[in-house]
Amino acid sequence: MTNQHISNRDMNVLWHPCTQMKDHETFPIIPIAKGKGVYLEDFEGNYYIDGISSWWVNLFGHSNPYINNKVKEQLDTLEHVILAGFTHEGIVDLSERLVGLAPEGLTRCFYADNGSSAVEVALKMSYHAHRNQGKEKGLFVSLSNSYHGETLGALSVGDVALYKETYEPLLIRSVQTPCPIDQSIQAAQEAVSHFEKLLKEKSHEIAALIVEPLVQGAGGMVMYHPSYLTQAKRLCTEYGIHFIADEVMVGFGRTGTLFACEQADITPDFLVLSKGLTGGYLPLSVVMTTESIYGEFYCDYNPYRSFLHSHSYTGNALACAAANATLDLFEKDKVIEANHRLASAINDGLKRFVSRKEVKEIRQCGMIGVIELQGFDAAKRIGVQIHRHCLANGILIRPLGSVIYVMPPYIITVEELGCIFDAIESALNELTL
Ligand SMILES: *Cc1c(COP(=O)(O)O)cnc(C)c1O
Repeated sequence: MTNQHISNRDMNVLWHPCTQMKDHETFPIIPIAKGKGVYLEDFEGNYYIDGISSWWVNLFGHSNPYINNKVKEQLDTLEHVILAGFTHEGIVDLSERLVGLAPEGLTRCFYADNGSSAVEVALKMSYHAHRNQGKEKGLFVSLSNSYHGETLGALSVGDVALYKETYEPLLIRSVQTPCPIDQSIQAAQEAVSHFEKLLKEKSHEIAALIVEPLVQGAGGMVMYHPSYLTQAKRLCTEYGIHFIADEVMVGFGRTGTLFACEQADITPDFLVLSKGLTGGYLPLSVVMTTESIYGEFYCDYNPYRSFLHSHSYTGNALACAAANATLDLFEKDKVIEANHRLASAINDGLKRFVSRKEVKEIRQCGMIGVIELQGFDAAKRIGVQIHRHCLANGILIRPLGSVIYVMPPYIITVEELGCIFDAIESALNELTL
Protein backbone atom coordinates (compact mmCIF):
# COMPACT_ATOMS: atom_id res chain seq x y z
CA MET A 1 0.00 0.00 0.00
CA THR A 2 1.46 3.36 -1.00
CA ASN A 3 0.51 6.89 -0.04
CA GLN A 4 -0.60 7.49 -3.59
CA HIS A 5 -2.97 4.55 -3.59
CA ILE A 6 -4.87 5.93 -0.60
CA SER A 7 -4.72 9.56 -1.69
CA ASN A 8 -6.11 8.77 -5.16
CA ARG A 9 -9.08 6.99 -3.62
CA ASP A 10 -9.48 9.87 -1.16
CA MET A 11 -9.60 12.47 -3.95
CA ASN A 12 -12.52 10.62 -5.55
CA VAL A 13 -14.82 10.68 -2.54
CA LEU A 14 -13.74 13.16 0.14
CA TRP A 15 -14.10 16.88 0.67
CA HIS A 16 -11.62 18.02 3.31
CA PRO A 17 -12.16 20.69 6.00
CA CYS A 18 -10.82 24.21 5.56
CA THR A 19 -9.25 23.19 2.23
CA GLN A 20 -9.32 24.32 -1.37
CA MET A 21 -9.40 20.81 -2.85
CA LYS A 22 -7.76 21.94 -6.09
CA ASP A 23 -4.55 22.61 -4.15
CA HIS A 24 -4.24 18.85 -3.86
CA GLU A 25 -3.75 18.54 -7.62
CA THR A 26 -0.21 19.79 -7.06
CA PHE A 27 0.37 18.86 -3.44
CA PRO A 28 -0.95 15.42 -2.56
CA ILE A 29 -2.79 14.81 0.68
CA ILE A 30 -0.83 12.70 3.18
CA PRO A 31 -2.43 9.47 4.32
CA ILE A 32 -1.48 8.53 7.88
CA ALA A 33 -1.22 4.85 8.70
CA LYS A 34 -0.29 5.06 12.38
CA GLY A 35 0.30 7.44 15.24
CA LYS A 36 2.57 6.87 18.20
CA GLY A 37 3.45 9.55 20.74
CA VAL A 38 4.30 12.79 18.91
CA TYR A 39 4.89 10.87 15.66
CA LEU A 40 2.58 10.30 12.74
CA GLU A 41 3.64 7.70 10.18
CA ASP A 42 2.45 7.55 6.58
CA PHE A 43 2.08 4.45 4.38
CA GLU A 44 5.64 4.68 3.10
CA GLY A 45 7.40 4.77 6.45
CA ASN A 46 7.87 8.56 6.66
CA TYR A 47 7.48 10.09 10.09
CA TYR A 48 6.14 13.51 11.02
CA ILE A 49 6.41 15.19 14.42
CA ASP A 50 2.95 16.50 15.24
CA GLY A 51 3.91 20.07 16.16
CA ILE A 52 0.30 21.32 16.35
CA SER A 53 -1.27 18.49 18.35
CA SER A 54 -3.43 17.54 15.35
CA TRP A 55 -5.37 20.83 15.31
CA TRP A 56 -4.83 21.58 18.99
CA VAL A 57 -6.57 18.55 20.42
CA ASN A 58 -3.88 16.01 21.25
CA LEU A 59 -2.31 16.44 24.69
CA PHE A 60 -0.59 13.15 25.52
CA GLY A 61 0.43 11.80 22.16
CA HIS A 62 -1.17 9.50 19.63
CA SER A 63 -2.09 5.99 20.66
CA ASN A 64 -1.32 6.75 24.29
CA PRO A 65 -1.22 3.36 26.06
CA TYR A 66 -3.04 4.60 29.18
CA ILE A 67 -5.89 6.32 27.32
CA ASN A 68 -6.11 3.41 24.87
CA ASN A 69 -6.70 0.97 27.71
CA LYS A 70 -9.34 3.09 29.37
CA VAL A 71 -11.25 3.49 26.10
CA LYS A 72 -10.96 -0.25 25.42
CA GLU A 73 -12.31 -1.09 28.88
CA GLN A 74 -15.23 1.27 28.32
CA LEU A 75 -15.89 -0.26 24.91
CA ASP A 76 -16.64 -3.62 26.48
CA THR A 77 -18.94 -2.08 29.09
CA LEU A 78 -21.06 0.64 27.49
CA GLU A 79 -20.38 2.51 24.25
CA HIS A 80 -23.19 5.08 24.42
CA VAL A 81 -26.55 5.71 25.99
CA ILE A 82 -29.16 8.43 25.49
CA LEU A 83 -28.41 11.18 28.03
CA ALA A 84 -32.01 12.37 28.44
CA GLY A 85 -33.58 10.39 31.25
CA PHE A 86 -30.41 8.27 31.57
CA THR A 87 -26.89 8.71 32.82
CA HIS A 88 -23.72 6.65 33.24
CA GLU A 89 -20.88 6.44 35.71
CA GLY A 90 -18.22 7.93 33.42
CA ILE A 91 -20.11 11.17 32.86
CA VAL A 92 -20.87 11.57 36.57
CA ASP A 93 -17.19 11.02 37.42
CA LEU A 94 -16.13 13.46 34.72
CA SER A 95 -18.60 16.14 35.80
CA GLU A 96 -17.59 15.86 39.48
CA ARG A 97 -13.95 16.16 38.49
CA LEU A 98 -14.52 19.15 36.20
CA VAL A 99 -16.50 20.92 38.92
CA GLY A 100 -13.58 20.25 41.28
CA LEU A 101 -11.00 21.61 38.83
CA ALA A 102 -12.77 24.57 37.21
CA PRO A 103 -12.87 28.05 38.78
CA GLU A 104 -14.97 28.06 41.92
CA GLY A 105 -18.71 28.42 41.37
CA LEU A 106 -18.98 26.52 38.08
CA THR A 107 -21.12 23.68 39.37
CA ARG A 108 -23.17 22.49 36.37
CA CYS A 109 -22.00 20.62 33.25
CA PHE A 110 -24.00 20.60 30.01
CA TYR A 111 -22.47 18.42 27.28
CA ALA A 112 -22.28 18.59 23.49
CA ASP A 113 -19.87 17.01 21.03
CA ASN A 114 -17.66 19.74 19.53
CA GLY A 115 -16.46 23.23 20.31
CA SER A 116 -18.81 25.10 17.98
CA SER A 117 -21.88 23.32 19.36
CA ALA A 118 -20.79 24.14 22.90
CA VAL A 119 -20.44 27.81 21.91
CA GLU A 120 -23.99 27.65 20.51
CA VAL A 121 -25.15 26.17 23.81
CA ALA A 122 -23.53 28.99 25.80
CA LEU A 123 -25.03 31.68 23.53
CA LYS A 124 -28.51 30.15 23.69
CA MET A 125 -28.34 29.62 27.45
CA SER A 126 -27.24 33.18 28.01
CA TYR A 127 -30.01 34.64 25.85
CA HIS A 128 -32.58 32.31 27.38
CA ALA A 129 -31.50 32.98 31.00
CA HIS A 130 -32.07 36.72 30.45
CA ARG A 131 -35.38 35.98 28.77
CA ASN A 132 -36.50 33.88 31.71
CA GLN A 133 -35.90 36.99 33.82
CA GLY A 134 -38.13 38.99 31.49
CA LYS A 135 -35.27 40.71 29.65
CA GLU A 136 -35.02 40.68 25.87
CA LYS A 137 -31.30 40.84 25.05
CA GLY A 138 -30.43 39.62 21.57
CA LEU A 139 -26.97 41.10 21.03
CA PHE A 140 -23.60 39.48 21.76
CA VAL A 141 -20.23 41.15 22.13
CA SER A 142 -16.95 39.53 21.17
CA LEU A 143 -13.39 40.73 20.67
CA SER A 144 -12.09 41.93 17.33
CA ASN A 145 -10.24 39.14 15.52
CA SER A 146 -11.88 36.42 17.63
CA TYR A 147 -12.72 32.87 16.59
CA HIS A 148 -15.44 30.75 18.18
CA GLY A 149 -16.18 28.07 15.59
CA GLU A 150 -17.93 27.57 12.26
CA THR A 151 -21.62 26.90 12.93
CA LEU A 152 -23.77 29.96 12.26
CA GLY A 153 -24.11 31.19 15.85
CA ALA A 154 -20.44 30.62 16.61
CA LEU A 155 -19.45 32.23 13.31
CA SER A 156 -21.63 35.24 14.16
CA VAL A 157 -19.59 36.04 17.26
CA GLY A 158 -16.30 35.37 15.46
CA ASP A 159 -14.45 38.15 13.66
CA VAL A 160 -12.11 36.51 11.16
CA ALA A 161 -13.25 37.82 7.76
CA LEU A 162 -11.82 34.83 5.89
CA TYR A 163 -14.34 32.52 7.54
CA LYS A 164 -17.20 34.93 8.20
CA GLU A 165 -17.64 37.42 5.38
CA THR A 166 -19.35 35.11 2.86
CA TYR A 167 -22.03 34.11 5.34
CA GLU A 168 -22.72 37.59 6.75
CA PRO A 169 -26.40 37.66 5.60
CA LEU A 170 -27.08 34.47 7.58
CA LEU A 171 -25.71 35.53 10.94
CA ILE A 172 -27.16 36.57 14.31
CA ARG A 173 -26.46 40.00 15.82
CA SER A 174 -23.08 40.66 17.30
CA VAL A 175 -20.78 43.60 17.82
CA GLN A 176 -17.01 43.61 18.34
CA THR A 177 -14.94 45.45 20.91
CA PRO A 178 -11.17 45.79 20.37
CA CYS A 179 -8.88 43.01 21.55
CA PRO A 180 -5.80 44.28 23.44
CA ILE A 181 -3.11 44.89 20.83
CA ASP A 182 -0.29 43.16 22.73
CA GLN A 183 0.56 41.46 26.02
CA SER A 184 1.13 44.67 27.99
CA ILE A 185 -1.01 45.92 30.85
CA GLN A 186 -1.53 49.26 29.05
CA ALA A 187 -2.97 47.50 26.00
CA ALA A 188 -5.35 45.60 28.29
CA GLN A 189 -6.35 48.85 29.97
CA GLU A 190 -7.08 50.57 26.65
CA ALA A 191 -9.20 47.69 25.42
CA VAL A 192 -11.13 47.73 28.71
CA SER A 193 -11.98 51.41 28.19
CA HIS A 194 -13.40 50.63 24.75
CA PHE A 195 -15.50 47.85 26.21
CA GLU A 196 -16.80 50.12 28.96
CA LYS A 197 -17.80 52.73 26.41
CA LEU A 198 -19.76 50.11 24.47
CA LEU A 199 -21.49 48.93 27.64
CA LYS A 200 -22.55 52.48 28.50
CA GLU A 201 -24.29 52.73 25.13
CA LYS A 202 -25.69 49.27 24.62
CA SER A 203 -25.65 47.11 27.77
CA HIS A 204 -29.48 46.95 27.85
CA GLU A 205 -29.39 45.01 24.54
CA ILE A 206 -26.37 42.83 25.29
CA ALA A 207 -26.70 39.25 26.55
CA ALA A 208 -23.02 38.38 26.97
CA LEU A 209 -19.40 39.03 26.19
CA ILE A 210 -17.65 36.00 24.71
CA VAL A 211 -13.83 35.83 24.72
CA GLU A 212 -10.98 33.45 24.05
CA PRO A 213 -9.06 33.94 27.31
CA LEU A 214 -5.38 34.99 26.93
CA VAL A 215 -4.84 33.66 23.39
CA GLN A 216 -6.94 34.19 20.26
CA GLY A 217 -6.25 31.02 18.29
CA ALA A 218 -7.47 30.90 14.71
CA GLY A 219 -7.27 34.71 14.49
CA GLY A 220 -3.47 34.40 14.48
CA MET A 221 -2.36 33.42 18.01
CA VAL A 222 -2.83 36.95 19.36
CA MET A 223 -1.94 37.12 23.06
CA TYR A 224 -2.98 39.55 25.78
CA HIS A 225 -2.57 40.25 29.47
CA PRO A 226 -4.81 38.49 32.02
CA SER A 227 -5.79 41.84 33.56
CA TYR A 228 -8.06 42.37 30.54
CA LEU A 229 -10.13 39.39 31.64
CA THR A 230 -10.24 40.50 35.26
CA GLN A 231 -11.47 43.99 34.30
CA ALA A 232 -13.86 42.80 31.59
CA LYS A 233 -15.45 40.33 34.00
CA ARG A 234 -15.86 43.09 36.58
CA LEU A 235 -17.62 45.28 33.98
CA CYS A 236 -19.87 42.42 32.88
CA THR A 237 -21.05 41.93 36.45
CA GLU A 238 -21.54 45.67 36.92
CA TYR A 239 -23.64 45.99 33.74
CA GLY A 240 -25.63 42.78 34.17
CA ILE A 241 -24.31 40.83 31.21
CA HIS A 242 -22.83 37.34 31.11
CA PHE A 243 -19.17 36.50 30.61
CA ILE A 244 -18.55 33.48 28.37
CA ALA A 245 -15.00 32.09 28.48
CA ASP A 246 -14.39 30.07 25.33
CA GLU A 247 -11.50 27.90 26.51
CA VAL A 248 -11.96 25.39 23.69
CA MET A 249 -8.35 25.94 22.64
CA VAL A 250 -6.66 27.31 25.77
CA GLY A 251 -8.23 24.93 28.30
CA PHE A 252 -6.36 21.96 29.76
CA GLY A 253 -2.96 23.46 30.38
CA ARG A 254 -2.20 25.20 27.09
CA THR A 255 -1.47 28.58 28.67
CA GLY A 256 0.49 27.26 31.66
CA THR A 257 -2.45 26.83 34.05
CA LEU A 258 -5.15 24.20 33.76
CA PHE A 259 -7.62 26.90 32.69
CA ALA A 260 -6.62 30.32 31.35
CA CYS A 261 -9.24 32.06 33.55
CA GLU A 262 -7.21 31.07 36.62
CA GLN A 263 -4.55 33.60 35.62
CA ALA A 264 -7.13 36.38 35.80
CA ASP A 265 -8.63 34.96 38.98
CA ILE A 266 -12.16 35.02 37.59
CA THR A 267 -15.15 32.71 37.44
CA PRO A 268 -16.95 33.18 34.13
CA ASP A 269 -20.71 32.65 33.90
CA PHE A 270 -20.02 30.05 31.22
CA LEU A 271 -16.83 28.07 30.62
CA VAL A 272 -16.71 26.33 27.24
CA LEU A 273 -14.35 23.34 26.87
CA SER A 274 -13.65 20.87 24.10
CA LYS A 275 -10.44 20.15 22.10
CA GLY A 276 -8.09 18.90 24.87
CA LEU A 277 -10.93 17.49 26.95
CA THR A 278 -10.54 13.95 25.61
CA GLY A 279 -6.81 14.23 24.99
CA GLY A 280 -7.57 14.41 21.27
CA TYR A 281 -9.30 11.04 21.15
CA LEU A 282 -13.01 11.56 20.68
CA PRO A 283 -15.38 14.46 20.06
CA LEU A 284 -16.80 15.88 23.28
CA SER A 285 -17.50 19.34 24.65
CA VAL A 286 -18.98 20.82 27.76
CA VAL A 287 -20.42 24.12 28.91
CA MET A 288 -19.94 24.65 32.61
CA THR A 289 -22.12 27.21 34.34
CA THR A 290 -23.19 28.50 37.73
CA GLU A 291 -25.99 27.49 40.06
CA SER A 292 -27.51 30.90 39.46
CA ILE A 293 -27.84 30.40 35.67
CA TYR A 294 -29.05 26.85 36.25
CA GLY A 295 -31.65 28.25 38.64
CA GLU A 296 -33.15 30.44 35.90
CA PHE A 297 -34.30 27.29 34.11
CA TYR A 298 -35.30 25.17 37.13
CA CYS A 299 -39.05 25.17 37.68
CA ASP A 300 -42.24 23.13 37.43
CA TYR A 301 -42.72 21.88 33.88
CA ASN A 302 -42.90 24.77 31.45
CA PRO A 303 -41.48 24.18 27.98
CA TYR A 304 -40.60 27.84 27.45
CA ARG A 305 -38.45 28.05 30.56
CA SER A 306 -36.60 24.76 29.97
CA PHE A 307 -33.40 24.41 27.97
CA LEU A 308 -34.59 22.00 25.29
CA HIS A 309 -31.27 21.68 23.46
CA SER A 310 -29.74 18.30 22.65
CA HIS A 311 -27.34 16.44 20.38
CA SER A 312 -27.64 12.74 19.58
CA TYR A 313 -24.15 11.92 20.83
CA THR A 314 -24.27 14.16 23.91
CA GLY A 315 -22.16 12.70 26.71
CA ASN A 316 -20.91 9.72 24.73
CA ALA A 317 -19.50 7.11 27.12
CA LEU A 318 -16.36 6.35 25.11
CA ALA A 319 -15.55 10.05 24.91
CA CYS A 320 -16.11 10.39 28.67
CA ALA A 321 -13.73 7.47 29.28
CA ALA A 322 -11.08 9.22 27.20
CA ALA A 323 -11.72 12.47 29.10
CA ASN A 324 -11.44 10.75 32.50
CA ALA A 325 -8.21 9.05 31.39
CA THR A 326 -6.89 12.44 30.25
CA LEU A 327 -7.64 13.95 33.66
CA ASP A 328 -5.93 10.92 35.31
CA LEU A 329 -2.78 11.73 33.34
CA PHE A 330 -2.86 15.38 34.43
CA GLU A 331 -2.91 14.19 38.05
CA LYS A 332 -0.52 11.26 37.83
CA ASP A 333 2.18 13.01 35.83
CA LYS A 334 1.88 16.47 37.43
CA VAL A 335 1.61 17.80 33.91
CA ILE A 336 1.15 21.50 34.66
CA GLU A 337 4.43 21.57 36.62
CA ALA A 338 6.26 19.36 34.13
CA ASN A 339 5.22 21.67 31.27
CA HIS A 340 7.31 24.54 32.73
CA ARG A 341 10.43 22.85 31.38
CA LEU A 342 8.91 22.42 27.93
CA ALA A 343 7.66 26.01 27.94
CA SER A 344 11.17 27.23 28.63
CA ALA A 345 12.46 25.06 25.77
CA ILE A 346 9.87 26.69 23.50
CA ASN A 347 11.15 30.05 24.71
CA ASP A 348 14.74 29.06 23.86
CA GLY A 349 13.63 27.90 20.42
CA LEU A 350 11.84 31.17 19.70
CA LYS A 351 14.86 33.27 20.69
CA ARG A 352 16.76 31.94 17.66
CA PHE A 353 14.42 33.99 15.45
CA VAL A 354 14.35 37.33 17.29
CA SER A 355 16.81 39.24 15.16
CA ARG A 356 15.84 37.94 11.71
CA LYS A 357 14.64 40.73 9.45
CA GLU A 358 11.64 38.75 8.18
CA VAL A 359 10.43 38.23 11.77
CA LYS A 360 7.98 40.85 13.02
CA GLU A 361 7.59 39.44 16.52
CA ILE A 362 8.01 36.34 18.63
CA ARG A 363 5.58 35.69 21.45
CA GLN A 364 4.64 32.91 23.81
CA CYS A 365 1.97 31.89 26.25
CA GLY A 366 2.73 28.64 28.08
CA MET A 367 2.77 25.79 25.57
CA ILE A 368 2.14 28.01 22.53
CA GLY A 369 5.10 29.61 20.76
CA VAL A 370 4.68 32.06 17.87
CA ILE A 371 6.94 33.49 15.18
CA GLU A 372 5.10 36.16 13.23
CA LEU A 373 6.62 37.06 9.87
CA GLN A 374 6.48 40.35 7.99
CA GLY A 375 7.07 41.69 4.50
CA PHE A 376 5.64 38.79 2.49
CA ASP A 377 3.15 39.24 -0.31
CA ALA A 378 -0.07 37.43 0.70
CA ALA A 379 -0.39 35.95 -2.79
CA LYS A 380 2.86 34.02 -2.24
CA ARG A 381 1.22 32.10 0.62
CA ILE A 382 4.30 32.01 2.80
CA GLY A 383 2.50 29.92 5.46
CA VAL A 384 1.64 27.21 2.95
CA GLN A 385 5.21 27.13 1.67
CA ILE A 386 6.63 26.77 5.18
CA HIS A 387 4.09 24.05 5.92
CA ARG A 388 5.25 22.10 2.85
CA HIS A 389 8.94 22.64 3.54
CA CYS A 390 8.55 21.40 7.11
CA LEU A 391 6.55 18.33 6.01
CA ALA A 392 9.39 17.39 3.68
CA ASN A 393 11.60 17.59 6.78
CA GLY A 394 9.35 15.40 8.92
CA ILE A 395 7.57 18.19 10.82
CA LEU A 396 3.86 18.96 10.86
CA ILE A 397 3.13 22.63 11.49
CA ARG A 398 0.35 24.63 9.87
CA PRO A 399 0.96 28.40 9.93
CA LEU A 400 -1.98 30.80 9.99
CA GLY A 401 -0.98 33.04 7.08
CA SER A 402 2.30 34.64 8.16
CA VAL A 403 1.94 33.46 11.76
CA ILE A 404 4.04 30.36 12.41
CA TYR A 405 3.24 28.65 15.67
CA VAL A 406 4.09 25.51 17.61
CA MET A 407 1.55 23.91 19.89
CA PRO A 408 2.90 20.44 20.65
CA PRO A 409 1.52 17.55 22.69
CA TYR A 410 2.77 17.67 26.28
CA ILE A 411 4.79 14.47 25.88
CA ILE A 412 7.17 16.02 23.36
CA THR A 413 10.86 16.04 24.34
CA VAL A 414 13.18 19.04 24.33
CA GLU A 415 15.10 17.37 21.46
CA GLU A 416 11.94 16.93 19.39
CA LEU A 417 11.06 20.59 19.99
CA GLY A 418 14.54 21.40 18.72
CA CYS A 419 13.78 19.49 15.50
CA ILE A 420 10.65 21.61 14.96
CA PHE A 421 12.60 24.86 15.33
CA ASP A 422 15.38 23.49 13.08
CA ALA A 423 12.82 22.85 10.35
CA ILE A 424 11.32 26.33 10.68
CA GLU A 425 14.80 27.85 10.57
CA SER A 426 15.76 25.91 7.47
CA ALA A 427 12.48 26.93 5.83
CA LEU A 428 13.29 30.60 6.42
CA ASN A 429 16.86 30.09 5.21
CA GLU A 430 16.02 28.16 2.08
CA LEU A 431 12.73 29.56 0.83
CA THR A 432 13.38 32.23 -1.73
CA LEU A 433 10.33 34.42 -1.92
C1 LIG B 1 -11.58 25.21 17.62
C2 LIG B 1 -12.31 26.27 18.37
C3 LIG B 1 -13.71 26.30 18.41
C4 LIG B 1 -14.56 25.35 17.61
O1 LIG B 1 -14.41 24.02 18.01
P1 LIG B 1 -14.77 22.86 16.95
O2 LIG B 1 -14.67 21.62 17.75
O3 LIG B 1 -13.73 22.95 15.88
O4 LIG B 1 -16.14 23.13 16.45
C5 LIG B 1 -14.31 27.26 19.18
N1 LIG B 1 -13.59 28.14 19.88
C6 LIG B 1 -12.25 28.15 19.87
C7 LIG B 1 -11.51 29.15 20.69
C8 LIG B 1 -11.56 27.22 19.09
O5 LIG B 1 -10.22 27.26 19.04
